[in-house]
Amino acid sequence: MQSLWSDADCATYEGPLGPRVYSSRLLGADPTLVMHGGGNTSVKLPGTDGLGRPVDLLYVKGSGSDLATMSAAGFAPVRLAHLLELAELPELSDAAMAEQLRLGCIRTDAPAPSVEAILHALVPARYVDHTHADALLSITNTPRGSEFVAEVYGDQVVVVDYVMPGFALARRCAVELAHQMHDDTIGMVLLQHGLFSFGETASESYERMIDLVSLAEDFLVKAGAWDLPTQDAEPEPSAGDRVARASLRQELSRVAGVPMILTTTSTPRTRAFLARPDAGELATRGPMTPDHVIRTKRVPMLGRDVDAYAREYRDYFEQNQARTPAPLTMLDPAPRVVLDPDLGLLTAGRAAGDAAVAADITLHTFDAVERATALDAWQALPERDLFDVEYWELEQAKLARAGAPAQFAGEIALVTGAASGIGRAVVQALRAVGAAVVAVDRNPAVAAATATGVLGVECDVTDEVAIDRALDLAIARFGGLDLLVLNAGVFPPSRAVDELSLREWHDVMAVNVDANLSLLRVTADLLARAPKGGRVVVNASKNVAAPGPGAAAYSASKASLTQLARVTALEWASKNIRVNVVHPNAVFDTGIWDEETLRTRAGHYGLSVEEYKTNNLLGVEVTSADVAAVIVALCSATFAKTTGAQIPVDGGNDRVI
Ligand code: ZN
Repeated sequence: MQSLWSDADCATYEGPLGPRVYSSRLLGADPTLVMHGGGNTSVKLPGTDGLGRPVDLLYVKGSGSDLATMSAAGFAPVRLAHLLELAELPELSDAAMAEQLRLGCIRTDAPAPSVEAILHALVPARYVDHTHADALLSITNTPRGSEFVAEVYGDQVVVVDYVMPGFALARRCAVELAHQMHDDTIGMVLLQHGLFSFGETASESYERMIDLVSLAEDFLVKAGAWDLPTQDAEPEPSAGDRVARASLRQELSRVAGVPMILTTTSTPRTRAFLARPDAGELATRGPMTPDHVIRTKRVPMLGRDVDAYAREYRDYFEQNQARTPAPLTMLDPAPRVVLDPDLGLLTAGRAAGDAAVAADITLHTFDAVERATALDAWQALPERDLFDVEYWELEQAKLARAGAPAQFAGEIALVTGAASGIGRAVVQALRAVGAAVVAVDRNPAVAAATATGVLGVECDVTDEVAIDRALDLAIARFGGLDLLVLNAGVFPPSRAVDELSLREWHDVMAVNVDANLSLLRVTADLLARAPKGGRVVVNASKNVAAPGPGAAAYSASKASLTQLARVTALEWASKNIRVNVVHPNAVFDTGIWDEETLRTRAGHYGLSVEEYKTNNLLGVEVTSADVAAVIVALCSATFAKTTGAQIPVDGGNDRVI
């Protein structure tokens, strides 16, 4: 492992915490060291309290922050003396410890200090770094783990057997530090958990971490356990695979009691791991570090029998709960990681980000498992230790505090014409209520929308092959489809009927009608598997009820589209899919309208631009966001008993023009 330390870069981080922030970020940037909020760092510095009195402080990472994006505000300043006094207590529940850590802070706006704060306080060095390095865990998670650690590090590190993070671990480390630490100690190994390094400066502690991880890597190389197999052949997805994934997601959501995102991850490494004859057996021996159980559950599901997995999970919960004093709230029994011989590696979560985190963790776990197997054999912690972390009182308290989930959490929408205007507003509105969104547009700019919960796909909806590909990408990323918003449409230049060519007519029909038929046909099997029922909203036009001269093709296409939607509502009601239509009018913030066009059209009616924009019963301007809000509402439970309806969004238009 290469050191990335640069004095020049470090100097750009100002203030007494500058070097601490800099090296925290260096560690956080490497996923083979820490992932997704794992690990923590601290520094001991003199400060002053609110009364201006000098006080020794431990600045320790706040829980919930991520080393990769650490800032000075992410550290909690805790009185060092308070922490050292806490360490003397014979026992302290973790909930009481969390309260004491908060009370030890000198600022009320500080984040909650890491649960490992007392441990950091006990290490006499000024800087302390803690990671969950893959290379170390490949060595410690084996039957001969402690023997290997002695071979790799000699007496450079303090070695501590596995103890659950929290007060008990801090107490145990206090004893081991007192017994094992000497002048040349540079770190500490927590078996089956992670690695600590310490030093008097940020760079000394960081470089020692790199050295310690490098020693572990070298050991694996020498043992012939470093190189990992890969496999290239990318399996071709099929429409059948899409339905299979959507069915699995439906099952998983049913067992979880809420809609879930189900992400497929296919890399040369996942394929090589899954090709191993012992893949299932290895993958179910347990996680790399116990805190992963929160994200991945203790074991993945092999195959697709979700009910069988849930039964086993309930048994695991009942058996382990029997030995805990307080009654526990069972987490949903659905798997978070699925290994299927045909579908590959799939990960699940309440939001797209959760499924992505479970995938990242699983990829690193595959690497560690294969290296440990080449070295000796993969051995995770016993079930009871993993249960204790999964049902830790602080995690249970977090559950109790968690508010209601977002309205559309775990649901997936596909929006066409998503790069601008009403389509873009619908994407934003759906994201704001927690849905994952596939944003489709023929404008390649749509790809820029791609983020954790948004997949932007360039796609001409008149091209059935392109639609097929977009659906493959959508189902691979999110696992199914709940909402379909048919918004893409064209508004051709004005043309009188006696001058309208068939070519122009067909071009409009191809986008405004035919493409929507294709989309409805290929999404039917997916929408039918939506955990809460499928919903389709068609963006038609006020033109259907009030056609305009010069707009024959447009008006006829939107009337045709409306009838298509109404018939679909009739046919799909038995599949529990609702289909509704919106008829917006005079939405001027959509890009087709520039100032010049607005002035011309307003002049045509003898109105000012302002009068023209608000020329409806309510005298209001209708915006893309207004239309998007109605579309989202039609997808919501408020309209659970409405299908085949047509809703105008036009400020009231009867008898205005
Ligand atoms: Zn840790």
